Amino acid sequence: MGLPNGVLRELKQIVGGHQVVHEANDLKIFERDGSISGALPDAVVLPADRDQVAAVVRLAARHGIPVVPRGAGTGLSGGAVTVKGGIALQLSRMRRVLRIDPASRTAMVEPGVVNQDLQQAASRHGLFYAPDPSSQKACTIGGNAAENSGGPHCLYYGVTTNHVLGMEVVLADGSFAWLGGEAPDRVGLDLLGVMVGSEGTLGTITRILVKLLPVPESVVTLMAAFPTIETASHAVSAVIGHGILPAALEMMDQVTIGAVEAHYRAGYPTDAGAVLLVEVDGLQESCGELSGEIERILKENEATNLRIAEDPDERELLWAGRKGAIGALGRIKPNYYLHDGVVPRTRLPEVLRRVGEIGDHYKLPVANVFHAGDGNLHPNILFDLRDAGVMDQVEGAGEEMLYAVVEMGGTLSGEHGIGIEKNAFMPWIYSADDLEAMLRVKRALDPAGLMNPGKIFPDPEREPRLTARAGFCAEARWW
Ligand SMILES: Cc1cc2nc3c(=O)[nH]c(=O)nc-3n(C[C@H](O)[C@H](O)[C@H](O)COP(=O)(O)OP(=O)(O)OC[C@H]3O[C@@H](n4cnc5c(N)ncnc54)[C@H](O)[C@@H]3O)c2cc1C
Repeated sequence: MGLPNGVLRELKQIVGGHQVVHEANDLKIFERDGSISGALPDAVVLPADRDQVAAVVRLAARHGIPVVPRGAGTGLSGGAVTVKGGIALQLSRMRRVLRIDPASRTAMVEPGVVNQDLQQAASRHGLFYAPDPSSQKACTIGGNAAENSGGPHCLYYGVTTNHVLGMEVVLADGSFAWLGGEAPDRVGLDLLGVMVGSEGTLGTITRILVKLLPVPESVVTLMAAFPTIETASHAVSAVIGHGILPAALEMMDQVTIGAVEAHYRAGYPTDAGAVLLVEVDGLQESCGELSGEIERILKENEATNLRIAEDPDERELLWAGRKGAIGALGRIKPNYYLHDGVVPRTRLPEVLRRVGEIGDHYKLPVANVFHAGDGNLHPNILFDLRDAGVMDQVEGAGEEMLYAVVEMGGTLSGEHGIGIEKNAFMPWIYSADDLEAMLRVKRALDPAGLMNPGKIFPDPEREPRLTARAGFCAEARWW
């Protein structure tokens, strides 16, 4: 593909010579995100501020060059992969927390602020930002907003869309738009709602106004072991069935526990079939009552080795095991393919059984570590890329697992987005008319189709095998 003549020179004029990456070897660093597919951009541009973003986007629009916004590249659905080439707009230099206002409990940040850095800045005011993806040490608030990310504590607090009050966006023609605001009611069309979760396909987020919450007075973290993943799943339903909504309710299966223990020594019993991590927060008195009630319900549902973290260090260690679980799986196989689907919570035992059967059928180990409280499962297919033909097996197994999720009344993603990983499967859950309605919004905001092309919507050019299997009808000419 390549950029038209003179464009590199113009990009360097906008952001400075050192902030444009275009040598083949250097571009390789930006080939992938956290998922399994990759494609090289023609150039990577690192703007310092919103005006530089707008100038780059205007230049790209003039020349018909695709633009792919990129945060930390931790995405798990290929969202930041430049499948159609063009410019990767790397936003990590825009990492200022512009303002924290304790009175209105809000923060205004640039998109490249790392989630954990915002947490730290907020904590100095006795506040916190609720969405806490397990990747929070690296992922950015811009990426979180674009993916509508979740995290362990989103069971109680809600996912990112519930915490974004407003944002500034550079649209596909390089113009600015401010969406939403501090007022509780949004008047006019809810374009903020449309932008959150749009995976960079509608514009580039350059500023974000987020809601902060007061740090709870008390936190209780429990760990409980179960003989099987089924018994643990029944315990999850029982807790929520009793009208209790913990702050977090996470599950790890035996494969994951083994890998995590070897690495973190978090104290998870390695002979357990599954472990649940449950957390409640709030006023000291209500936390004590709730955790007592949860303990009782878990025991009634075959929990053993029940442990309550005695101090912040022990709590930290229990969470370090959960949040570092995916990295720890590298002890079993060098590569993983992490899937993301949601089922109604009561179907968890059934879908996890099916996931296990599919793994056995393809002779691939599968580790499950997930947000059980909201039915958001994450089967990790473990493999070694050096094994001949393994990618076909891995993709085949992943597709069957997702199909099982949809068959059980679920949907294609709980938090990782659609990207290029699942766009071929969108017709499983949406009719051609539904997709066409979404595409009209896309075309209205990005008529030339330059913002992160090839994502979310089925792309007949790219994956004929998968799109054919998904029943995608190329003649519909959605694009
Ligand atoms: C170990 C691990 C654990 C994870 N755990 C979780 C979890 O618990 N919950 C969860 O939800 N996700 C999780 N993820 C997935 C990932 O971290 C999230 O999707 C995260 O929000 C991506 O942020 P990022 O900055 O890395 O974005 P990127 O990967 O760089 O980009 C993601 C998408 O956002 C778009 N984008 C990025 N910045 C902007 C912007 N400023 N404007 C417009 N579009 C933009 C990109 O084009 C792309 O489509 C995990 C990933 C890993 C590797």
